[in-house]
Amino acid sequence: MQTIQSSFSDLLHLFFPHICAGCGTDTLDQEQMLCLHCLNNLPSTNFFDQPNNPVEQVFYGRIPVENAAAGYFFTKDSLLQNLIIQLKYRGNKAIGFYLGRLLGNYLNDSSRFTNVDALVPLPLNPRREKKRGYNQATALCNGILAVWNKPVIDKNVIRKVYTETQTHKGRISRWENMDGIFAVKNPAELENKHILLIDDVVTTGATLEACGSEILKINGTTLSIATLAYTI
Ligand SMILES: [Zn+2]
Repeated sequence: MQTIQSSFSDLLHLFFPHICAGCGTDTLDQEQMLCLHCLNNLPSTNFFDQPNNPVEQVFYGRIPVENAAAGYFFTKDSLLQNLIIQLKYRGNKAIGFYLGRLLGNYLNDSSRFTNVDALVPLPLNPRREKKRGYNQATALCNGILAVWNKPVIDKNVIRKVYTETQTHKGRISRWENMDGIFAVKNPAELENKHILLIDDVVTTGATLEACGSEILKINGTTLSIATLAYTI
């Protein structure tokens, strides 16, 4: 059986070469996207076990966050940027699952996130999600779920309006635009829970802040935040 399986995967490999998204080497397991060399070269932040880390500092004086962290530093023209572009603009949902597993490993290994009750993916604008076919934060959550056993509550926190010109505006107006764009459909589902809000990249934190503050309006909720990457 083992032999049949391995020759089947050899055959699969012959017709569908599976190569590292970083360097193109073809010595990869079917479920991996990066070879060990490329994986080890992703710029890890080590924020998960670090209180008062820069991601937590983003939210100081804005919303009360129990713990926050990002897996990697986001830098321009990097492999990570390329993977995130694939995830967000090239329809490569599988990359989200893979990167989610990496994020899940950090969460699983950290002692600071053990009392999280549920994951909530930062909702994408419905029109954008329809166009993309999925929410990249949900793809990350599904990957996290594969290695860290926490329930995912999707489609309860929703995003209301479409802000078409959002990306063309500056930091301040983008912040102002966020007011009231998130809503919770069924607050009872989140009541008294420690929610971990998940997104791909944290930059100004404005979107996470706006969404997080809606969650914090619900009785007894506490909030933590985890993202795949952090922009300096
Ligand atoms: Zn590689």
